[in-house]
Amino acid sequence: MSGKSIVESQFERAADLVNLDAYMRRILMSPFREVQVEVPVRMDDGRIEVFTGYRIQHNGARGPCKGGIRYHPDADHDEVLGLATIMTWKTALMDIPFGGAKGGVTVDPKKLSKLELERLTRRFTQRISIVLGPYRDVPAPDVNTNAQVMAWILDEYSSRHGYTPAAVTGKPVSLGGSLGREEATGRGIMYVMTEYARDFGIPLKGSRVVIQGFGNVGGHLARLLQGEAGAKVIAVSDVAGGIVNESGLDIPGLLAHTAARKPVSEWKAGKAIGNEQLWTIPCDWLVPAALGGVITKESNARVIDCKVVVEGANEPTTPTADLILEERGIPVIPDFLANAGGVTVSYYEWAQNLQQYRWTHEQVNRELQATITKAYTGVRDLAKQKGVTFRTAAYAIALQRVAEAERLRGN
Ligand code: GLU
Repeated sequence: MSGKSIVESQFERAADLVNLDAYMRRILMSPFREVQVEVPVRMDDGRIEVFTGYRIQHNGARGPCKGGIRYHPDADHDEVLGLATIMTWKTALMDIPFGGAKGGVTVDPKKLSKLELERLTRRFTQRISIVLGPYRDVPAPDVNTNAQVMAWILDEYSSRHGYTPAAVTGKPVSLGGSLGREEATGRGIMYVMTEYARDFGIPLKGSRVVIQGFGNVGGHLARLLQGEAGAKVIAVSDVAGGIVNESGLDIPGLLAHTAARKPVSEWKAGKAIGNEQLWTIPCDWLVPAALGGVITKESNARVIDCKVVVEGANEPTTPTADLILEERGIPVIPDFLANAGGVTVSYYEWAQNLQQYRWTHEQVNRELQATITKAYTGVRDLAKQKGVTFRTAAYAIALQRVAEAERLRGN
């Protein structure tokens, strides 16, 4: 199931709940602007390889379009559109002054050298720079992109428009990036889990956590949950497989191990498992923190054995799997609430760049906690009041905010 169809079917449920007019449904479900480009790249052996890239701006009613850029073989039009749509709901739910966008290049970056990756990034930026800008559309990291890639985007954009740090977020701190941006998605997930833990009586301290994915999101989340919240991270995985240790994994050790580009399954202090096995481990919190469409009816929705699913990744649960989890009484904290810490700190980075003033790491964390907790509380209260899932409540809040902005602007 494509990212586009996942978000469409979730949207309809919430649009019915808030009685959204048919014309507004049409505006909110179709993208504002889509750009598809050819990205010819000179490879190290002298050949030119041509990649396809996308930047899709879903909605800009509440502010400049905002969202990451991913490099992945599956990053096609429908996936990027689905992800751009989620960004609109995410920024609206957090009540930060942005719309939603996403970019992607259909490429396996693991097959590229560092220089090829730089040339790809620069060429892609050149081709989409016409639709970018601090008040138009602001990219950030996503799957397989990082602060270094953002630095190249900044350099390429600035060479055409003059020094413009607010044109991209998730930059290295020494180039105007924000303190706390890199860990922000993981930290935001921890703050949401802390609130949920208190409200629903699943104390985080000592609780059992399984995390699928050990990249920027999963890695920081594991470190923070264990180091700051006292949770027990018993299993994690990456593309090659997983590792489990019932008494809790040594996360700092595992992070040092994976920093040396070694798979988690080769970590000595635990038992190696296959990727399918990870989903069946009994735990309190199960956090998919890698790619979309991993919890499905066919594979694991009926065997997942946790108290709560926390969507660290974007759209990890297909709509049918979502219904199965609902039937089974397993609540899901939806992606655009759980993982919104990244874009929230991107907003602080953008604001710092525009003000030419730097915040402390403590200030960033404090503001993040306040923003994401307020959004969480709104979702929790509406879900209770209407007797709906967290996902439907989060959609209802977000799409009402975007619809109001559209109406006020004359639509
Ligand atoms: N790629 C991240 C997301 O999906 C961050 C986007 C941003 O910071 O603009 O939320």
